[in-house]
Amino acid sequence: MKITQIETIRVGEFPDLIFVLVHTDGGVVGLGETWYAASTVEAAIHDHFGPLIIGRDPAEIEGHWQTLFKLSDHAGFGGAETRAISALDMALWDIKGKVSRLPVYELLGGAVRTKIRVYNTCGVYGEIDDGWAIYRDAGEVAKSLLDEGITGMKHSPTDYIARDTDGQFVHPEDLEWSLGPIRRIREVVGDEISVATDAHAKWNLPSAIRIAQAFEPYDPMWHEELLSPFNEVAHLRLQESTKTPIAVAERLVSRYEHRRFIESGAARIVMPDLEWTGGISEVHKIAILASAHQVPIAPHDCLGPVNMFACAQICMSSQNVMVMEYNRAMAKGWYGRFITPDVPVRDGFLHAPEAAGIGCELRPEVRDRPDAVIRVSDEPREAWLTSRKRYTYPPPDIQEMLDARRKGARDD
Ligand SMILES: [Mg+2]
Repeated sequence: MKITQIETIRVGEFPDLIFVLVHTDGGVVGLGETWYAASTVEAAIHDHFGPLIIGRDPAEIEGHWQTLFKLSDHAGFGGAETRAISALDMALWDIKGKVSRLPVYELLGGAVRTKIRVYNTCGVYGEIDDGWAIYRDAGEVAKSLLDEGITGMKHSPTDYIARDTDGQFVHPEDLEWSLGPIRRIREVVGDEISVATDAHAKWNLPSAIRIAQAFEPYDPMWHEELLSPFNEVAHLRLQESTKTPIAVAERLVSRYEHRRFIESGAARIVMPDLEWTGGISEVHKIAILASAHQVPIAPHDCLGPVNMFACAQICMSSQNVMVMEYNRAMAKGWYGRFITPDVPVRDGFLHAPEAAGIGCELRPEVRDRPDAVIRVSDEPREAWLTSRKRYTYPPPDIQEMLDARRKGARDD
């Protein structure tokens, strides 16, 4: 089987969302996705990465990942390049699963579970306004989640109070205000629901420590990104200042950035974003790395609709998954307009996708949307920056010098 085309689809309604379809001569099509700066990712796929795998065997997922990552790493990996690799990797796993007639988790070692607990990130879309209601009556939000069987939630109580000082100082009265939602939740439902916070990397270290210590009486599930993950030593100091676990971080890219936070103990909970950090292949490795340090992962979401299916494959096959992020406002509000079936969250759990491959398909009508931008590449190109067999060889006289030296060394 050979890859024949790489197709991207993005839509004006969600300018960060991009779907990637990998077509093969066998008729099997793999679906991938990523989120943020979709037009930049589109350029990365068609101008750089896609042509390197056109004409190749889609089954060689690990080899393709290495080829693409080496090209990206030459200019400092990360950003749109790694998001492009993540989406292509996801699509290749979808093809492998469909060809094998198995869900991807079966190819990653098989199921260690058939469902994983989800927590709801309080978002706003359509009729669901958890992200605003959390400030008006957090107890009611918690009760409505428990009514659906959802026993975990996440909110961002310090986002607004960071604005005045750009995160350089937390005023005591602001800090008191930010404790309001979790205090109300504990009054109304007690410990029935786990409550995490996400600070979106807005604070300096002394402010982060003050916030973490102020929340301790309310037993948060974790604090996420009180600091931007620039410095694992600063994160370790934050972790050592509080008994609340510190979660790091959706913005770390690849196993190499995660390694510093896992090995130093700075991350007590690891939160890889599958669509940003390198795809299914890379999160599989990050989960194993974390497991060696007896640290759980909690995959990141709040992206496009395909991500939950890709993360489900990791959640079913990796033993050290703690919980899965879910955003009911997004999932119920608009995911169903793009994919089928719906995200399999029921009774507070994400269930194992049943279909072969990644578990969902793009709705055909997405192509007919007036705001859809569709681009297709079908011309292969050689990679020069790879240590694999497609490496560009040196001129013959230099190769002869090298061969002669090797022969001489063996003769010695
Ligand atoms: Mg976050």
